[in-house]
Amino acid sequence: MKYITKYKSPNYNSRKNSKIRLIIIHYTALKNTSDAVSYLCNKEKKVSSHYLISQNGTVYNLVQEKFRAWHAGQAFWKEITDINSISIGIELDYNPSGKNNKFSFKMIDSLKKLILKLQKKYKIDKNNILAHSDIAPFRKKDPGKHFPWKLLYSSNLVICLKNLKRNEIKIMEKWFSNYNLKSKKQKTILALSLIGYDTREVFKNSKLYNKLIRAYRIRYLNNEDINKNKSIYNTLIKHLFNYMLTKN
Ligand SMILES: [Zn+2]
Repeated sequence: MKYITKYKSPNYNSRKNSKIRLIIIHYTALKNTSDAVSYLCNKEKKVSSHYLISQNGTVYNLVQEKFRAWHAGQAFWKEITDINSISIGIELDYNPSGKNNKFSFKMIDSLKKLILKLQKKYKIDKNNILAHSDIAPFRKKDPGKHFPWKLLYSSNLVICLKNLKRNEIKIMEKWFSNYNLKSKKQKTILALSLIGYDTREVFKNSKLYNKLIRAYRIRYLNNEDINKNKSIYNTLIKHLFNYMLTKN
């Protein structure tokens, strides 16, 4: 893994003693790595990330990990809105409508190595490797529906959703009944909120609700199921159960 430190972004400030707890994955939506380096290091753009990974797997460190890079924007995870202070941002040189519209093997291989290194260094929970669309589902789509989350599951870097046994499904249903929730929509929102998503406005705003469901679907359903408009409910129950067992 080639590692380059000679380009530095001026766009950062202090984390104010916040602990690093999340890793956020982005795509640049720019033409290529050199455009991305210029953009992320341009003082006027007021954005940055700690890392940028090129199509050939080269890793650029643009902001030191101890500093607060500016990649998340307006965001939310588990009641926290200053996501930049508690996260490491990784940009991928990928543009869905550009020539760099593939997540290359070398890029993903470097990403996996980088995540593993950061997870060990900061003891980052597997539930806390997130898409920009997880923390800003109403504004952001990256890293998008073609991002290979499966390769991250199979390398054991992110939470793997094991299927539930029949009695485990019953436990979950019983657990929901304690909250006195009748509709699937209410249960869906509660589960999403416990996992960490921003559900503050979604119950009364169906446009936002649909955006949140789409963000979840893109990340956790198979590609065929995304297109079939399949319900996320069963996946979400499985997710919540696995989450409760694994979170630390
Ligand atoms: Zn992003």
